[in-house]
Amino acid sequence: MDSPITSIKGIGEKTAMLFHRVGVHTVGELLSYYPRTYDMYQEPVTFANLKAEEIQAVAGFLRKAPSVTKAKRYAVTTVVLEEFGEYLHLTWFNMPFLKNTLTPGSTYIFRGRVQKKKGRLVMEQPEYFTPEAYEEKLNTMQPIYGLTAGLSNKTVAKAVKQALDGRNLNPEYLPEEIRMSQELAEYNFALQTIHFPVKWEDLLLARKRLVFDEFFLFILALRQMKEASELRKNECPCSPVKETQQLLASLPYELTGAQKKVWEELQRDLSGEGVMSRLIQGDVGSGKTVVALLALVCAVYNGYQGALMAPTEVLARQHGQSIREMLEGAGLSLSVTVLTGSMTAKEKRLAYEAIESGEAKIVVGTHALIQNQVRFLRLGLVVTDEQHRFGVRQRETLTDKGEYPHVLVMSATPIPRTLAIILYGDLDISVLDELPASRLPIKNCVVDESYRATAYRFMEKEIAAGRQVYVICAMVEENPELELENVVDYTEKLKKAMNPSIAIEYLHGKMKAAEKNKIMERFAAGEIQVLVSTTVVEVGVNVPNATVMMVENAERFGLAQLHQLRGRVGRGKHQSYCIFVSGNDSPDTKKRLEILNKSNDGFYIASEDLKLRGPGDLFGIRQSGLLEFRIGDVFTDAGILKAAGEAAARLLREDPSLQKEEHRELRKRLSACRMGGDGNVSL
Ligand code: ADP
Ligand code: MG
Repeated sequence: MDSPITSIKGIGEKTAMLFHRVGVHTVGELLSYYPRTYDMYQEPVTFANLKAEEIQAVAGFLRKAPSVTKAKRYAVTTVVLEEFGEYLHLTWFNMPFLKNTLTPGSTYIFRGRVQKKKGRLVMEQPEYFTPEAYEEKLNTMQPIYGLTAGLSNKTVAKAVKQALDGRNLNPEYLPEEIRMSQELAEYNFALQTIHFPVKWEDLLLARKRLVFDEFFLFILALRQMKEASELRKNECPCSPVKETQQLLASLPYELTGAQKKVWEELQRDLSGEGVMSRLIQGDVGSGKTVVALLALVCAVYNGYQGALMAPTEVLARQHGQSIREMLEGAGLSLSVTVLTGSMTAKEKRLAYEAIESGEAKIVVGTHALIQNQVRFLRLGLVVTDEQHRFGVRQRETLTDKGEYPHVLVMSATPIPRTLAIILYGDLDISVLDELPASRLPIKNCVVDESYRATAYRFMEKEIAAGRQVYVICAMVEENPELELENVVDYTEKLKKAMNPSIAIEYLHGKMKAAEKNKIMERFAAGEIQVLVSTTVVEVGVNVPNATVMMVENAERFGLAQLHQLRGRVGRGKHQSYCIFVSGNDSPDTKKRLEILNKSNDGFYIASEDLKLRGPGDLFGIRQSGLLEFRIGDVFTDAGILKAAGEAAARLLREDPSLQKEEHRELRKRLSACRMGGDGNVSL
């Protein structure tokens, strides 16, 4: 399991480098590089039975040769099939040679995602087979892996197959009693089947087992950490200071009841017997930042340094700036040092020096930086503003350096308390369950593309009133296959469609950090009025003046993610609006998106979404996106998570340190999984 992937036949240094890029270094990592999804070759269906948004196959008789037209920069090849009065439009981009490949008078099997566009059934970029060729593929499932440029799906599948064939079987490490009561498949079977399923039922069984394992081991690892930290005494006691009062008095608002309550809990922790390990859970906009700042100020005026770790550079800079402003407003002169990857080497060196000398009191930066390269003089409190569950490993790293600061983790993940207790089992939990009273609920609507022009006029009106707008597009890659709205082209279109005096800019994940920062800062400063962006704005940014969010191709997103995105507006005193534009007009899509209209409860939204999707979508969109497990999904698999939590609790009651002989394999597995190198408890 620990041997490098080059030990697999056929994988040389060059291919290994490609695997490294997707995080696979060892044979063990390769085996747990589970498929993203599966291609299932099913019986062709009749046109009347085609369902929008699903990948299906049809048999079609070609009456005449495909036609090729030029549209935009692409050659579009079109075939129109007819069956009992129903029509299906097939289109391919940049494949003009099909004109000669597909011969009139023959029957082919076409397979692809079916969409309903303007009342028509459309299949874009379908695969095509002769009926004989399709017969061979029929009823097989092919794993589809996450890839990177140069690494083909075939290469991964082949490597996995080699690794599976060549390995020694793993001993079963789950206690028999747990395996039986939870009806879990055997581990080796699960591993084989998750990569190369033979039938759907087996795949579900395999997945259940691996999801259970992932949660179960994670929970056990957390428990061990909690025990370690509970025993640790408070080496950085912080008593209440008048400066926090001063800060509170200077704010333009009063804390909500929930904020007050949580701030009291923090003060108790900071001055208490043991070191603080606390999670603040609060929906987007509930005002976590100011509470964290109060704790930082308290630590600093007790003579310590405080660090705030943000998941992205944009957010780190934004936090840095707003903290400086708040401190200034309160008349507190504290040196706030921002540390980001795009700073020059010299700037970084100066920052490191200030931190090491203790001159820097509050340090705000991205995790990677604070974690790996910084030596603090007297670190007393670490706040993690997290979207991902990276808290765990980080704390270990700090602890490894012999520092035991207080730890505060902030999360907006909308999960019910019962699950939060399981997932953040190593932390005490505070909940910010109250939004500032000045907030108006966001008004939502779900529309189709014909509404776009109206939406633009509406946005112009809001902009004329001084507000700002987000437009979210699915992804940045030029992707003619999917015809998604991409950020760059879309921005051009939007500039033409809107009043030319309006400042429109775009933002996407592939841009350099410095560019992103600049755009975000200009948007925050009101210099940009419309920000066209991918989901990179999802994380934590705060521009209270933005009141409209329009999401293009909303059907492509998980609802939980849309909910998270929506949290970027409705943060100020003005009425805010969300416009979800659906790229297809199927009733199922409409129904899904309408859920967002009805509820503002993130967890409810995600579970309703799941109900509509059904088990076939288990491998599709991952709902959480926020809590990154390898295969388990906190929303989709909430039931398994609960079961794993209960099983772990029972096991630990019976054998707290897993010393019993029958738990030897489990103990071994657990110690192996805690040594992983990525930012998480690695399994
Ligand atoms: P989040 O919990 O999503 O991190 P923020 O801390 O960014 O939320 O706060 C969102 C906005 O709400 C900020 O503009 C902040 O100034 C404001 N805010 C925070 N607390 C209150 C409050 N008690 N009353 C009014 N506005 C508040
Ligand atoms: Mg925040």
